[in-house]
Parts: sequence; structure tokens; C-alpha cells
Amino acid sequence: MQPILSARHIRKAYGAFIALKDISFDIPRGERHALIGPNGAGKSTFIACIAGQLPGVEGEMIFKGENILALPPARLAKRGIGRTFQISRAFLHMSVLENMMAAYVIASGKWASLSGRVYAEKIDRAHAMLETVGLAERSRDTVADLSLGDRKRLEFGMALAADPDLLLLDEPTAGMSIKERHFLMEMVAERVDATGKTLIFVEHDIDVVMKIARRVTVMVRGAILAQGSPEDIKANDEVQAVYLGG
Ligand code: ADP
Ligand code: MG
Repeated sequence: MQPILSARHIRKAYGAFIALKDISFDIPRGERHALIGPNGAGKSTFIACIAGQLPGVEGEMIFKGENILALPPARLAKRGIGRTFQISRAFLHMSVLENMMAAYVIASGKWASLSGRVYAEKIDRAHAMLETVGLAERSRDTVADLSLGDRKRLEFGMALAADPDLLLLDEPTAGMSIKERHFLMEMVAERVDATGKTLIFVEHDIDVVMKIARRVTVMVRGAILAQGSPEDIKANDEVQAVYLGG
């Protein structure tokens, strides 16, 4: 089967510093793929390359058969790439429902011409998505008042509003308790599978990686150190030496 995403010789420098050296790999459609590695390995940079957010990226990023490297983020969103950020980007002083609504309106690309009927339909969809991500009871709350876990649920729901084929989640569980991490990522995995999406996520908790990922890429200093099933990665001596500290 043709991979949904194929990175070929991706290279990215920030000035004289080379953050991605020569990254090549394929992601099959429907895969849940974890990107792991120590801080500074280049994980967020690679996610930003896929999402079209960085200038001066070399190589080829083939998404659904097309090289997307020169396309701006808005065009990539239209083609089916969605993402969340390591740092929250929800509107803190708006309610949960308003944020979810905003995500649907932005995804539609038609905020200047929303009719009453379409507006009502977006509200329905926003409510349904809040139900899906377990936030129905919090819809009137201000985002600033949400727990970290609930905020991550909201951001995930907002990313789903555009119905992307490929979802990029950069450290969705950062700062959460162990229980919250598993709770969130089980919901993410269930949604990804139920809707036939492909997932790439950055995650530090190796137990979450073991449970959620079908395949894992380990990055170190801008290069790929290893790639394989979670079991292979956990048993890999080189990975243990540099990453797991074993
Ligand atoms: P990770 O997400 O794996 O922790 P990053 O992709 O954020 O790694 O960063 C990779 C390397 O690139 C780090 O050494 C970081 O300091 C550097 N870096 C990231 N963003 C910039 C930037 N805008 N300018 C200069 N260096 C950067
Ligand atoms: Mg990062």
C-alpha cells in the first residue's frame, strides 16, 4: 500500500545549526506512529516541517502522492493535515463551546458568509465533538479554568474539527499525571481508528508509547537512531543507551 506520508532526505538548519540531518521514513495510512527521543532531538522541528510551518526545509515531503514542502499551512490543512502544539493555542478567555465553534468555522473557511442555518449546524457539530472528547459537561466553562487534561481534550477535538487524514500531536500528554496520560491517549487512539485517520505523536512516556504506537521512530540529534515496533524499540540496546538511560 502507498504510504500516506513519505519523508525523503529532510534537512533543516537554523542558521549554522543543523536540526534535521537526513530524515527519511514512510508512514502507512492508518498507522499510529510515535516519535521519541531526548530534548533537542528535532521532534518538534520535524512535526513543523510536515505541517508546513518552517521555511528553508530541504528534501521531499510526499503526502498522498504530492510533494507538500512548499505549501503554506492553510493549504496543508485543506489537504488533510491537522496538528496540535506543545504549547496550548486555544482561546483562553472564550468558553469551551466557543472554541469548538471557532474550530468548525475556521475549518469551513467561510467565516465571512455563515448563514443562520449553517451556524446552527456548526453549533450542533461542536456539541457533538465535545461529547466525543468527553467535555460535554464543561461546554460553558472558560478554557482558562479547565484542567490541563481537559484542555488537551479540547485541543484534540479542535484538531478533529477539520477532519484531517493525518494528525500530528506534539507532546499531547506533557505535564499530565500518568493516569490522565493513558486516559487521553486511549481516547485519541480510539478516535483515530474509528475515523480511519493516521497519527504521528511525540511522547516521552515509554509506557504510553508501548500501548498506543504500532511503530516508533527514535530521533537523536537530528537523525533517526532506530525504527520499529514498540517491543523492538524497547529491547534495542542502542536506544536504551542514549534514550532510556538503561
Ligand atoms: P525536540 O522537539 O526534539 O525537543 P526541537 O525540534 O524543538 O527538538 O529542537 C531541535 C534543535 O533545534 C534544538 O537544539 C533546538 O535548540 C534547536 N531549535 C529549535 N527551534 C529553533 C529556532 N527557532 N532557532 C534556532 N534553533 C532552534
Ligand atoms: Mg519538542
